[in-house]
Amino acid sequence: MDKDSLYTLVRNVLDEMRERPIPLGISNRHLHLCAEDYAHLFPGQPIGKKKALLQPEQYAAEQTVTLVGPKGQIENVRLLGPLRSASQVEISRSDARALGVAAPLRSSGDLKGTPGLRLVSPFAELELASGVIVARRHIHMSPLDALILRVSHGDTVAVAIKGDDRQLVFDNVDIRVSPDMRLELHIDTDEANAAGADNPLAFATLVNR
Ligand SMILES: [Zn+2]
Repeated sequence: MDKDSLYTLVRNVLDEMRERPIPLGISNRHLHLCAEDYAHLFPGQPIGKKKALLQPEQYAAEQTVTLVGPKGQIENVRLLGPLRSASQVEISRSDARALGVAAPLRSSGDLKGTPGLRLVSPFAELELASGVIVARRHIHMSPLDALILRVSHGDTVAVAIKGDDRQLVFDNVDIRVSPDMRLELHIDTDEANAAGADNPLAFATLVNR
């Protein structure tokens, strides 16, 4: 094969890879806990692993809590492991309204000035001072995926969700590149419902704007 044909072949393969559907991860309301808060809410108990998530090392724990806000409460909110350096509660806008908490739209870990909530486990209660957010939608990917998709960490892109007739284009989707992460779009349940993404055939693609 001569150099030009090889170049064309590589370009075609890359173009095809760029068209690959991006797997959808729909994040139901959940929380992350720091070691201190976990030990307070679940004294003497190891974290139980209920289900592995797509992202390496991440899992849904056996443990759940009740979120208690000024206007309402939500039971059976799943803890995700492993433990982190700061506790964080990720809810949808609908949840925020039901709880009566003015949770801002934030990236994971960007918790300065966020409101708190009361967390109730079967064993204890904890008044979380801050850490309640509605997560910005984002795509996790490896450096190789970023190269193929021609994006960089910190970029924002538009993504088309194709599921049912409610298909929708989402702007302002953050790109998060990390060697530890697999290609996956994370949206919350409000976003998934709005886009008809809550069905097994749904997928996402990048949109050129
Ligand atoms: Zn994520």
